[in-house]
Amino acid sequence: MRTLIANGTVVNAGGSARADVLIDGETIALVGAVPEVAVDRRIDAAGKYVIPGAIDVHTHMELPFGGTFAKDTFETGTRAAAFGGTTTIIDFAVQSRGGSLRDGLDAWHAKAQGNAVIDYGFHMIMSDVNDDSLREMDALVGEGVTDFKLFTAYPGVFLSDDGAIFRAMQRTAHNGGLILMHAENGPAIDVVAAQAFEAGQTDPYFHGVVRYPIFEGEATNRVISLAEAAGVAVYIVHLSARDALDAVRTARDRGVNAFAETCPQYLFLSLEDLGHGFEGAKFICSPPLRTTDHQTELWKGLVKDDLQLVSTDHCPFDFKGQKDLGRGDFRKVPNGLPGVEDRVDLMHDGGVVGGWISKERWVEVVSAAPARMFGLEGRKGTVAPGADADLVVYDPNRRHVISATTHHMNVDYSCYEGRHVQGGSDVVLSRGEVIVENGTWQGAAGRGRFLKRQPTGGAIR
Ligand SMILES: [Zn+2]
Repeated sequence: MRTLIANGTVVNAGGSARADVLIDGETIALVGAVPEVAVDRRIDAAGKYVIPGAIDVHTHMELPFGGTFAKDTFETGTRAAAFGGTTTIIDFAVQSRGGSLRDGLDAWHAKAQGNAVIDYGFHMIMSDVNDDSLREMDALVGEGVTDFKLFTAYPGVFLSDDGAIFRAMQRTAHNGGLILMHAENGPAIDVVAAQAFEAGQTDPYFHGVVRYPIFEGEATNRVISLAEAAGVAVYIVHLSARDALDAVRTARDRGVNAFAETCPQYLFLSLEDLGHGFEGAKFICSPPLRTTDHQTELWKGLVKDDLQLVSTDHCPFDFKGQKDLGRGDFRKVPNGLPGVEDRVDLMHDGGVVGGWISKERWVEVVSAAPARMFGLEGRKGTVAPGADADLVVYDPNRRHVISATTHHMNVDYSCYEGRHVQGGSDVVLSRGEVIVENGTWQGAAGRGRFLKRQPTGGAIR
């Protein structure tokens, strides 16, 4: 099967050019002036961009949380991702307290296999660092699960103390993997949250108030220092606050291997969205939405590469029936937002059209940097011969309105309801196969493959 994408502007992180793209089977055969060849299919991309399929390195399909489960399955969630131009996800497998990494990883393979419609990899959440789980880390790296996420938040559930975090970091320094950190001071937050609740401050808005930016800054600074001492690279997930960005920037200026992502919700939404009574529960995630002045700092962080990429932390819960669990107590609202479908368009609209970043930097933060930092370089994240033909024909001029009535995520609301955006995916290909075309689904459930990734811990830049 040969497909020619003709007349488009190929946009890579390193530059753009008018070029045709010839696909042979599952991979890209040629980019440039393609000689007259017989093809099975021709896609006209005149006036459009041809970009590498986007990669979302932070999703939580079917995550158990707060007595319920994130609503998207690997089938519905990856299908929604594809509609939005994302052709690879890296999801978080979870080690349960008292359980092994092996059991956690096997459970996630079982959820994804036969269901995911695009390619996927896994990171491993460690919630129980002990001699056995430390030993298991090396084997996981060998299986292509190369990153380990630890938490300084959620005492009693995910939190590891500094000693446990440091032990996991030392191990990772030896096995070549990467440490991912959820950095907020959970024990201190819980004190303030309990005081707020006792004072009758029970609305979702107070979720945003009690998780102080300085608690994120403190934890970010602490884990970067621990990583520096252990001699390992560290990657801060879902960075939301100026205080945390300052810690990353300072470390990077010192030459420390510290990296961070942010998410669209921290660039486009704010503490005000948590208001409006219980409606605010739709916007509860951790770290929380911040005041608007933090947004400007995060955009600057993306411009200057103190933030390397944008992921979603996609973790959807219905407003009716799930977020409801926290009526009368913001601490009981399941934490998480839907977003896997909206990231590429939001970053095009707010970033490129909005004048913060170039279209090449847009491709960098949604696709190329994720591939490079998470062991998929050469295979994903680039429009180049030999790479997987994960491609999006993107219309930079199409306008549409984000709404729960038209999105494909399995959740009953959108955080961006009614928002007008410029830019949209016309045709989405995964390994040479058209899976979305002009808003219609063409792929098959279960066609996605597990991606065995290479460790990059010491090599990322
Ligand atoms: Zn997360």
